[in-house]
Amino acid sequence: MKNKIKFTVIFILCICLLYGCSSNSNIDYSDTYVAGQDSQENFINYYNEYYYASSGDNYYFVRNGFLYAIDKETRECYPLCNKSDCLHDREDSYELRKECKAYLNSTDDQVVYNDGFLYYCIDDEEYDKDGNHHMLERMCRLSVDGTKREIIYTTEDYTICNFRVHRGYLYMEAAKFAADEEDPNGEKSASLDKAELLRVASDGQDKAEVFLPYNEYRKKYKYFDIRETKFYGNHLFLRINYSKKGKSKSTIFNVDLETKELKDIGDNLPLAYDARLTIFNDKLVFNGDGTKIYECDFNGENLKEVLDGSKIVKEYNRFAPYSNDGKNLFISVYYVNPKNGYEFKLSKKLISCNKKYEYTVHEMPIKYRAEIGFDKDFFIFQKDKDEKTPLYLINKSDFKSKLIYKFP
Ligand SMILES: [Zn+2]
Repeated sequence: MKNKIKFTVIFILCICLLYGCSSNSNIDYSDTYVAGQDSQENFINYYNEYYYASSGDNYYFVRNGFLYAIDKETRECYPLCNKSDCLHDREDSYELRKECKAYLNSTDDQVVYNDGFLYYCIDDEEYDKDGNHHMLERMCRLSVDGTKREIIYTTEDYTICNFRVHRGYLYMEAAKFAADEEDPNGEKSASLDKAELLRVASDGQDKAEVFLPYNEYRKKYKYFDIRETKFYGNHLFLRINYSKKGKSKSTIFNVDLETKELKDIGDNLPLAYDARLTIFNDKLVFNGDGTKIYECDFNGENLKEVLDGSKIVKEYNRFAPYSNDGKNLFISVYYVNPKNGYEFKLSKKLISCNKKYEYTVHEMPIKYRAEIGFDKDFFIFQKDKDEKTPLYLINKSDFKSKLIYKFP
């Protein structure tokens, strides 16, 4: 009898090994944020393409093609290379830069963390057997211990604009080249009118599929513009602006990640045209026109006003709930000139509130837009990544800033 049980256990183990016990069977499909397997939306600003990633011990980010780590304990920031004779990002020669282990040569400095791996995109080229030259984009992943580097997806047809890893899949917002958009030098540019959301298993072990045909929506919705994308639980939420009968409209699409069913849930929501959306306490939180912040359920129901910024900070008139860190919601404070509606003045004040919407007003060391929530300890701040301005940590307990890295 004992032997029979043993045999059964071994047999099941063998089946698992043979068929891989698909990674999806380990996924927790609770309709809330599950750490490790879910997209770290609190570390990404979609619109301005700021990406940070968090593992157990470190934060990660990419600048100018180099991968950096910030040690959560010591708060030191450094290029992720252990070669003793290497100058890393301070190396002038391109050939030597390529030798640095931190040099990913990634496009657009985007990086996400998921289940022990960092995902990034690189430009590559190759010649086929007939000597034809091909320009490629490759999605890659690197294990955080540095031992594994894999190619997940390669494309010649698409330009990958944004990507996330969520619940076992890599999702890529990918645009196709438009033949008529070649400039006089023969340079092609990708057109967002021809964009699609692609999806492939996050270990690269199956074929990519078109998950959402964004270009089809562009035929239906005039001036279709995706302002935010947020993966959360079993959903993808898209904050959309479009034009209907000459009037601008704002809405939210809720896409079911299992059935791909898309619902427009914004009909009765008082969304501002420039509304910010964050998912806090398992609710959608956004701002209306004026000074009010609202929350509603994932289907757009149970709308509730949760805060009126004008009652908290009097001399300002715009309040944007950009982000949260899982514990606190962060609301950036502005003054907008009511005469023209576009002159913005950002304040040094930042409102944070807990899950009961009990608020605190903080005086930040700089004028600060909390576009990314990060986690409970710090904000990471860089004024302008293209200008290579220094990187700061802002401590969430005393809201003091500390310079942690100067880029060469
Ligand atoms: Zn190096």
